[in-house]
Parts: sequence; structure tokens; C-alpha cells
Amino acid sequence: MSIEEPLRAQSGGALPHGGLLVDRRLDADVVAVLGSSSLASLVVTAAEAADLRALASGAYSPLTGFMGSKEHQAVTESMRLPDGLLWPIPVCLGLPDGIRVDGGRVALRDAQGQLQGVLEVAEVFERDRQAEAQLVYGTTDPAHPGVARVLDAPSRVVAGPIQAVVEPLEGPVGSRALTPAETRAAFAERGWATVVGFQTRNPVHRAHEYLMKCALETVDGLLLHPLVGPTKEGDVPAEVRMAAYEAVLEYFPASRVLLAALVAPMRYAGPREAVPHALVRKNYGCTHFIVGRDHAGVGSYYGPFEAQELIASLPADDLGITPLRFDNAFYCRRCLAMATGKTCPHPDSDHVALSGTQVRTMLAAGQLPPPEFSRAEVAQLLIDAYRP
Ligand SMILES: [Zn+2]
Repeated sequence: MSIEEPLRAQSGGALPHGGLLVDRRLDADVVAVLGSSSLASLVVTAAEAADLRALASGAYSPLTGFMGSKEHQAVTESMRLPDGLLWPIPVCLGLPDGIRVDGGRVALRDAQGQLQGVLEVAEVFERDRQAEAQLVYGTTDPAHPGVARVLDAPSRVVAGPIQAVVEPLEGPVGSRALTPAETRAAFAERGWATVVGFQTRNPVHRAHEYLMKCALETVDGLLLHPLVGPTKEGDVPAEVRMAAYEAVLEYFPASRVLLAALVAPMRYAGPREAVPHALVRKNYGCTHFIVGRDHAGVGSYYGPFEAQELIASLPADDLGITPLRFDNAFYCRRCLAMATGKTCPHPDSDHVALSGTQVRTMLAAGQLPPPEFSRAEVAQLLIDAYRP
């Protein structure tokens, strides 16, 4: 038994990345004072606001703020922070032209002027966006939605530790946006020592349900953890997805599954992004993490197993969460069961498989996909959402 085991049992899950869960939340009275103060203001983008919240809540532990030039270089070039901890994606705050910051503190506000947080200015530097795109995303193609966000951001960035508002959000999605401390408490209350996390930005069909159930057979609990931050055009809206996840929950014992929303931007960086997807779930208390085919990928920029290969190549102690690698699943008419290429010997013609485009076409036409592909409750929600 390793020394981590008793700690794990107490805290309800894995040790946070770097050992300590970061907490940079702003108190309400401080917000009231700062909200009306004369601090220099910087309006953050929706993606930056989501990063800010993730930083403050400890989702990005051990990060305590937006990265400086040293961190940016180390992360971009070696996938590690200067102290050697794994972290393969830069988290930067753009500083638009014309905005001056001369040290001290800057108020971070949303487009409506609402105070989101405060940054203590440690450094202002220029980032090489082309080099960052090439190293982190493997391409400088502006058609890649993650690359486009990097290239469109200001080259000047401001770095330093932050504090931010982490208020409960509104609506059916907001009420699901738990902090790492909250999911850890929920795991402990349920007595889960081992928990598998499932990342998704899409509706969950039978194939995903099967992967989650396969994983759940070997651990105590499942964290269904959809990402609800800014995604790309064409992705299904978060409210619709949340309703669809709730429908899928009916097919799991309530004592074995927790549905929570992760407010963070999707970067579509494929292999590089699969790693922070796992590290963030470790911060939320997960001990295991499902890495699917073309995890966090987009278009055909990454090979189907590149993310799994990268994560498998990392030392287990550095990762601190066990990746569970899965291939695509399908229903097989001869097995009479859900399966993958690993468990079913039959040809494709025996499999119920639909491409994303085929499914969207059916749903847009108001047709239910076969029940072997999608639960009718889920499909009906999507049909309603696609109806003009
Ligand atoms: Zn089969």
C-alpha cells in the first residue's frame, strides 16, 4: 500500500495535482469593495472568464494564476511547468492594445462590466502565437478552432496570481457547476474511494454509456463531467446536453453516479489537451479517467489513438490518475450487445454505427436513430433542439 492510500480514503478521491487543492475564491465583501474601486480594468473573453473560474476553484491546481513567460515557455516546449510538474497547455490572459497595466492589481471584468476577479500583475510579455500553435496544437491552420483562438488573441499577455468570484451559476447548467471541493465532498459522503471521470462536450449516446458502464464495473463511482465552457460553433448547446445527460442518468444507479458541469473552455488540442483533461479530473477527486478515440480532437488534425498514446507514454506517478483507454463502441447484431473491436469479432456490417453527420441529418429530419444507437429520450431532446 502506498503512502497515498489513507489520504485518498479521507479526502474522497485522488490527491490534487501538485499535492494541494488551490483555492483563490474572492469573498463577497471584497467583491463589493473592488467592484466600485478605481482599479485599472481589463475585459476578459468568455474563454478567459472560464479559465479564471477554473483557476480560482482549484480545477487547474497547482496553477494559481495566468502563466508568465517562464511557465509559458516550459509548458509549450516540454509539457511541464518549470518545477517539472506535468501541464501541457498554456493558460494565458490576453492584454489588448491600448490597455496599460503598470504593476499593482487589475480588475478583470466581463463584457457587461461585472467584476469577475483580480489579477496581481507579475509580468507583461509577448507570446509567439505561431510557435505556440505549432507546438501545442501541432498546426498553425486558422481553420482549427483552438488555433484560431490563439492566433486571434492579443500577442501581449499579462501574467500573475488571480483571485476570482466563484458564485453558483444560474439555470439548469449552472446548478451543476460544482467546484473540486464540492465533488470531493460528494465522493466522500458516498464512500467512493475510486472514481472514474468522463469528459464530454457532446450528447451521450449508447456507445458512451457503454464505456462509462465498463469503467464503472471496476471502480466505486462515476463522475459524468461534461465541459460547458465556450465550445465551437455547431456543438450542441450546454442546456440541451445537460437535459440529455440527465436522461441518461436514469440508466445508472443513483448511488453510483454524479453529474457535474466543468466550466472551462474547450481547446480541441487533441493529445496535449487529453492530459489536462485527466489532471483536472484528478483535482476533482477522480482516480481514473476515460480517454476515448480522438480524445479532445477536432476534424482530422490528430490520429485516432494519438491522445491515448501520449497519455500512456507519461510516467504513472507524474500523471497521478489512471487513464482508461477505450476504442469506439457500437451495438453488434450478432453479439446482441454493445462491444468494441476488442470484444467483438464480427464485421462492420453487423454493427449499428452511424457517423456524426448521419445522426445530425436524422435528428434534423425529426427521425429517431435506432435504439441501439441512442436512447429515445436523448434523441427526442436533440430532435426538439434541432427543430428550427
Ligand atoms: Zn459481434
